[in-house]
Amino acid sequence: MRIEERKVTVGEVCDGYLNDAEEGVVGYGERLDIRPCYQREFVYKDRQRDEVVRTVMKGLPLNVIYWCKTGGDSYEVLDGQQRTISLCEYVDGSFSVDDKYFYNLPEDQKRKILDYQLFVYVCDGTDSEKLDWFRIINIAGEQLTDQELRNAVYAGSWTSSAKRYFSKTGCAASTLAGDYLKGSSIRQDYLETAISWAAAAEGKTIEGYMAQHQHDPSAVSLWNYFRSVIDWAQAIFPRYRKEMKGLPWGLFYNDNKDRTDLDPATLEAEVSRLMADEDVTKKAGVYEYLLTGMERCLSIRAFDDRMKRAAYERQGGVCPYCGEHFELSEMHADHIVPWSKGGTTTADNCQMLCRDCNLKKGDD
Ligand SMILES: [Zn+2]
Repeated sequence: MRIEERKVTVGEVCDGYLNDAEEGVVGYGERLDIRPCYQREFVYKDRQRDEVVRTVMKGLPLNVIYWCKTGGDSYEVLDGQQRTISLCEYVDGSFSVDDKYFYNLPEDQKRKILDYQLFVYVCDGTDSEKLDWFRIINIAGEQLTDQELRNAVYAGSWTSSAKRYFSKTGCAASTLAGDYLKGSSIRQDYLETAISWAAAAEGKTIEGYMAQHQHDPSAVSLWNYFRSVIDWAQAIFPRYRKEMKGLPWGLFYNDNKDRTDLDPATLEAEVSRLMADEDVTKKAGVYEYLLTGMERCLSIRAFDDRMKRAAYERQGGVCPYCGEHFELSEMHADHIVPWSKGGTTTADNCQMLCRDCNLKKGDD
């Protein structure tokens, strides 16, 4: 089975579109069988059908569509039939979306739809392979996760080996790092996470990584990488807290593994202090904050309306920086002593600044 990426525009797919009870459904200059015999009936609800068209109108991405090669330059739709028919029927003028038929649209919007690029994987294989594929993709009502699909597309020795490490109940990854991972091993969340980290370290996508390794005899290198990530996290932050579950430890590792300035004892003292700080509203952000220094990781508590009102009354409505008078609604709350310098989000540390002064202060 060979898989090849192809960019196909909506206009190309709609070329020669025919939907006929006798002759079937074809498009792409009659080279694409949109509804081959083993496909399900068209069961999209109108709302879903409209949503496909709106997605294309906005230029947002649709999920990958799969075609199978049936000859030199002929294909059939393996997965994506309903999306394909929705788009073809719309361009054909069979239904309207938001009270507009395709032929009602201005030229530039028509062009935008026709030029929209569908992301198609073209698979080349035998009929039995095609049918197996279709079963995998459309298991009776069971929506496959992205990683389950990737495992099917990149099936081989590497994926089988990777699944032994990451995808079974009680697998090695779950024993070693279940506390650090979110999702479930069975639905391939652990495997997806591990590959995404390893792929990021090499500047690749998950698909790119899997394509590169598909024919490796085993996934031991991914497993070793994953163990290094968890070893590093445990060495740097030796005390486990529940907030550590589900964080992107591999990305932290990729960016920080070579640093020599990280001291576990100092970091633990900081974690402990920040966990207890009431102004830190996003506790899970503490780890990223300590590695990057980015305060936004912590979602520092904002002043509430009562504190703002109290400060405004105390100031008599005057901005302490420029001395002008403003309405409350024209002013912004500001920490007198910044949070990073020990200031708290309490009424006594609140001042109201006019928009301009607040902006200038922010620039400092
Ligand atoms: Zn001012």
